[in-house]
Amino acid sequence: MIKVRVPAKVNVQLGVGGLRGDGFHDLANVFFAVALGDEVTATPGEGVTLSCSGPDAAQVPLDDTNLAARAARLLAAHHGLADPGVHLHIAKAIPVAGGMAGGSADGAAALVACDALWGLGTPMDVLLDLAAELGSDVPFALLGGVALGRGRGEILEALPVTGTFHWVFAVADGGLSTPAVFRECDRLREEAGTGSSEADVPTPDAAPALLAALATGDPAALAAALTNDLQPAALSLRPALAATLAAGTEAGAIGALVSGSGPTCAFLAKDASAAEALAAALTASGTCRTAHATYGPVRGAAVH
Ligand code: ATP
Repeated sequence: MIKVRVPAKVNVQLGVGGLRGDGFHDLANVFFAVALGDEVTATPGEGVTLSCSGPDAAQVPLDDTNLAARAARLLAAHHGLADPGVHLHIAKAIPVAGGMAGGSADGAAALVACDALWGLGTPMDVLLDLAAELGSDVPFALLGGVALGRGRGEILEALPVTGTFHWVFAVADGGLSTPAVFRECDRLREEAGTGSSEADVPTPDAAPALLAALATGDPAALAAALTNDLQPAALSLRPALAATLAAGTEAGAIGALVSGSGPTCAFLAKDASAAEALAAALTASGTCRTAHATYGPVRGAAVH
């Protein structure tokens, strides 16, 4: 039996460029891995089968559309295994469709778990290529830490970071579809008259102040530099998130933003005890389903 822990991500910067001809957007995406994560257990089995536990388990597909199953099959195909056998159990703590790349995390965890179960010894650079085939956010879940993603987010560069930052995640009822949030971002840009194409929107780049805050381990400077170009679109589709962000700020968060495409909201706290108090205040505020205190950065998908 192989157990793999895998982190969720928050984007401390999500810069969204114009809509490209291929339907994707150029991104400047600073991923940050947090300890709130899933655990994927691989055991020998017949074919590729799945099970899932946790509060959101009912929303997780258990067929071949699940990224964990797709990852297992992709790894098997890469090695020419005709009849791969594995049962994958996903202990799900990452909110589903929450903007924290939970499906991508399970895909990365399944690559690592099946590689170990089947004794394949696949090199990391090959796993990263397979991860990029599965989806834009999957390579980062393998890498962990803090990284700048360019292109669709899949071209990764590890970034220097000092110390530990303390976070709270406020989980909403129901998810948001990532493609729908990107479409709303484009629609809002058209409505504002700025245009939404590659020609209209400058190519985003990582903000120097954000990189410096990470490198020096300064939570107040990181809080001031947090940006998410998808936030107006997530708020437009889910106006109630404004109350969640306000509740966190009133309860002492030093920084607040929508995580990725939302609807999970992320808050920075000055230390671990402030994060615990903030999570309790957010849960009591009634503006979210629940709130979790956690920390990061942590390493990517790994056997434990
Ligand atoms: P991202 O932040 O990468 O845009 P997300 O965190 O918003 O993603 P996910 O939790 O990855 O969203 O789920 C999006 C959809 O993917 C789900 O609604 C579900 O149908 C599908 N899915 C496929 N595999 C998984 C998985 N292992 N866990 C959760 N959802 C999965």
